[in-house]
Amino acid sequence: MTDPLFASAARTARALRVALPVPIDSLFDYLPPDDDTRPIEDWLRCRVVVPFSGRQLTGVVVEIASEDAHAGELARVVQGLDSEAALGEALLETIREGAAQALCPLGLALGPALPPGSAPRMVRQLHLTARGRDALASGATRGTISTLLKELAKTPLSAVALARRVPRSADAIRAIERDGLATPRVSSQGPAARIPTERVAFYACDTDVEAICKEHLSRAPRQADLLRRIAESSPVATAVLGNGAALRALAERKFIRIEQRETQSNVLGDPLEPPQPAPELTQEQRTALDPILSDVADHAASSYLLHGVTGSGKTEVYLRAVEAALAQGRQALVLVPEITLTHQIVARLRGRFGDRLAVLHSGLKPGERLEQWWRLARREVPIAVGARSALFAPLDDLGVLILDEEHDPAYKNDEGFRYHARDLARLRAQRSNCPLVLGTATPALETRLAADRGELTRLVLSHRIAGRPLPRVEVVDLQKERQRGVRGRKTILTRPLQRALEQTLVEGNQSILFLNRRGFSTQIFCFDCGFAERCKNCDVALVYHSGEARLRCHYCDFAKPPPDTCGGCGMPDAALLGVGTERLEEELRERIPDARVARLDRDTASKRGYTESVLRALRERQLDVLIGTQIVAKGHDFPGVRLVGVIAADIGLHLPDFRAAERTFQLLTQVAGRAGRDDTPGHVVLQTFVPEHYAIEPVVEHDYERFYREELAHRSRLGYPPHGFLAQCVLSAVDESVALQAGEQLAKLAETARDGDSEIEILGPAPAPLARLRGRYRFQVLIKASERAAMLDVARAVRDGCQRLPRNVQTSLDVDPLTMLSTPRSLFPGVSWPFAKFCSFPIHALNASPSPLRK
Ligand code: ADP
Ligand code: ZN
Repeated sequence: MTDPLFASAARTARALRVALPVPIDSLFDYLPPDDDTRPIEDWLRCRVVVPFSGRQLTGVVVEIASEDAHAGELARVVQGLDSEAALGEALLETIREGAAQALCPLGLALGPALPPGSAPRMVRQLHLTARGRDALASGATRGTISTLLKELAKTPLSAVALARRVPRSADAIRAIERDGLATPRVSSQGPAARIPTERVAFYACDTDVEAICKEHLSRAPRQADLLRRIAESSPVATAVLGNGAALRALAERKFIRIEQRETQSNVLGDPLEPPQPAPELTQEQRTALDPILSDVADHAASSYLLHGVTGSGKTEVYLRAVEAALAQGRQALVLVPEITLTHQIVARLRGRFGDRLAVLHSGLKPGERLEQWWRLARREVPIAVGARSALFAPLDDLGVLILDEEHDPAYKNDEGFRYHARDLARLRAQRSNCPLVLGTATPALETRLAADRGELTRLVLSHRIAGRPLPRVEVVDLQKERQRGVRGRKTILTRPLQRALEQTLVEGNQSILFLNRRGFSTQIFCFDCGFAERCKNCDVALVYHSGEARLRCHYCDFAKPPPDTCGGCGMPDAALLGVGTERLEEELRERIPDARVARLDRDTASKRGYTESVLRALRERQLDVLIGTQIVAKGHDFPGVRLVGVIAADIGLHLPDFRAAERTFQLLTQVAGRAGRDDTPGHVVLQTFVPEHYAIEPVVEHDYERFYREELAHRSRLGYPPHGFLAQCVLSAVDESVALQAGEQLAKLAETARDGDSEIEILGPAPAPLARLRGRYRFQVLIKASERAAMLDVARAVRDGCQRLPRNVQTSLDVDPLTMLSTPRSLFPGVSWPFAKFCSFPIHALNASPSPLRK
């Protein structure tokens, strides 16, 4: 058999270098399709479907090889998906650099920059062969093999889908393929997302509609009516017109024209009031804005930290910067940390610029996302707004890039391409020749230090707008309150907080109670002995959910009924001793029965639209007290809120994370900022066991700088970021000794790579704080270095070492980890439960073949 690849072996051409979404850190060369006539450069940054290791994958052409390759040496592109570049040059270069920094293969990192869900999906599915059918019919197979064949007899499935339906079948799946009972076939499944379309009717006459009706439709009154309606607001969606027969008749007589066009989605929500005039800037705002505006005008790449207390008018500065970019005919990108915050910034932007914006976030339906994406790519609207992933918005003439609440951990992507949006934004602004504005009241230590080092310019807004006062912060010492309280009665609301709540209610104002835990948390243990029930799989505290009256693991979802007595001291009622938002709500309803109370946490967040409706109710003063977790702390603006109560300010200090103090300070400052947003001062009550802690005391004084100095000194002593650099490799296996051995292998490898450099430390292998998760034992190796480049060198060696580990070991590598999810126990003695999301990047798949020709 002659291989078609060699049919035109005489011809030569320059190869397309394609980045493919596989965990292999290299590019892959292909020739353009055989019948291709377009100039080779036109393939650059276009998506292509290519054969790869027996499958077809969609990748992006990121380079053109400088030398000719012989046809026959390389496989050919199966299909080109774009006639024009699918992403801009600046964005591609940004991602290329960001991916290199995160040690992520470019092809994986490019995913979020491509039109969402619009590429055809090539799916490799197993089909039952005649032999397999015979085997099934004759009953010659049994056990797992027989179950697998029965599944495939129903419908072809991918190996992954099959393995999911039949537990522990990996070996058997390989066996049925090897023995010819099933055979793989690759088929195209069509894109996951399509922009919805609709039929619309256009009025197609040159003359006045009444003239037409009179002359041609006097005996068809229904058609005449319809034509009038269409003429009045042409084009009209046919779905709202009804009356198909009359429509057809009008179309046949060419009075109207019917076309298919993209449905205008309504992701922005209902139209707002007409645009509002901009307020006159304060002196501080003007001073902050001036350098930004001049950089917008000069197309100067620059970075600013807009450090302004809550309510100091940062958003107004953003709006002016956006305005300046638009005035130049350029585009603007505005990022917020969370979807729930997009509504607010979208409202502010629409209030100023009308509907000239698109929203990109994962809360949209696939078709809506694609539609918004295209509106930007086609330059129909100049402003992109969204959460983290909107950083990849298709804007090729960016005039300003804004990242609000820059300290927020939600900017770090924890899966696949583990980028930090702040770092990528900086690269993107540089490549786009535009200023980057990082706004916050509580800068991340990295950002604040970068300002000290002159890497970015710090602009300060030190006062609230119109001389509005910052809230008065009162600290309640829980230790003392507890001693004063009645023994056996574990209340959550101390007397000072309860008094403040009642007072606020009487004055007709609103309160927020902040508790950073969902369900009935067990982190506040049994108040008598400190015992907490833990998950048998995951080594984390279980959480009591009163709705279902069960203890639940937030990692593996294991659940069990609560015990009757405390497992530590035998006190009855132990499971109910923790403090969580549900318990708080109960106590509040008991103590202040008249208050209208609502609760927002991760449990309620899953109900579609619920969060928005509660926030709206609060804004419209239909609520007296809002109880909430993190969600309520973020930059929402609630004019009627006077009191903010923090139930346990030190709760976050106990996490095994070197950033625990920073997070606590930021969160407390943010949540305090919700109190008193207009002229009347707000009041904040912080309940805490450790009132003198350096993350809590400066909250009282609104003294960011003091916290910054203390925390920086602390980090410096320990060599932690921003005074050092970290990479974290986590390994897991079902068998404990296998995981440990793999850890030792990697640590040894890292030691070798370190090569005696005393500025680099290799920690571990140590059991990860979550020593068991989903039935796997977990160990970790931590690389700590004073120089980033040195850290990266060792991390790269570790990553490559992961390739040589047995396949039953899973590994994940996080460069610049943001949450020290898996910090070795030895660093934080006695603390062993992290709360970050667990994800893993399947580096073990690096074993796959890099040769596209191999079947
Ligand atoms: P931040 O983003 O720092 O929290 P905002 O920009 O939301 O602050 O401003 C707080 C409030 O002050 C908003 O209601 C805003 O409309 C208003 N505001 C901002 N700048 C001015 C100004 N120069 N004059 C009058 N009001 C302003
Ligand atoms: Zn668990």
